[in-house]
Amino acid sequence: MHELSITQAAVETIIERMGATPIRRVTLEIGVLSGVVVDSVRFCFEVIVAGTPLRDAVLDVVETPGRAACRDCTLEFVVEDPRILLCPGCGDADVRVLAGRELRIKSVEVENVCARPAVARTRPEPG
Ligand SMILES: [Zn+2]
Repeated sequence: MHELSITQAAVETIIERMGATPIRRVTLEIGVLSGVVVDSVRFCFEVIVAGTPLRDAVLDVVETPGRAACRDCTLEFVVEDPRILLCPGCGDADVRVLAGRELRIKSVEVENVCARPAVARTRPEPG
């Protein structure tokens, strides 16, 4: 599943950077044209974070809109439906995507409490 590996990579990146610090909130930015199903990411996140410093983290997903430009008439437009990549000006399908394919960790919020001695064996097994 596409979303599983993406979510896993995001969680691993956060653990790499934050170590055993308990994470309270994770905000992911997912472009509407990335092809990623947000509900699947949420589901995978719940599964993956079990037993990691992210286990109590709330997942926020910010969906960023898509933008594209027509190569034919140079019109720039907002893409609302990723399945329909057509220029609204001339109907041409030869469009260049400018934005909306991004998928990144926007922010990570850590717990505001005194950290207990870190439990080292909270990293998920690789693979
Ligand atoms: Zn056009």
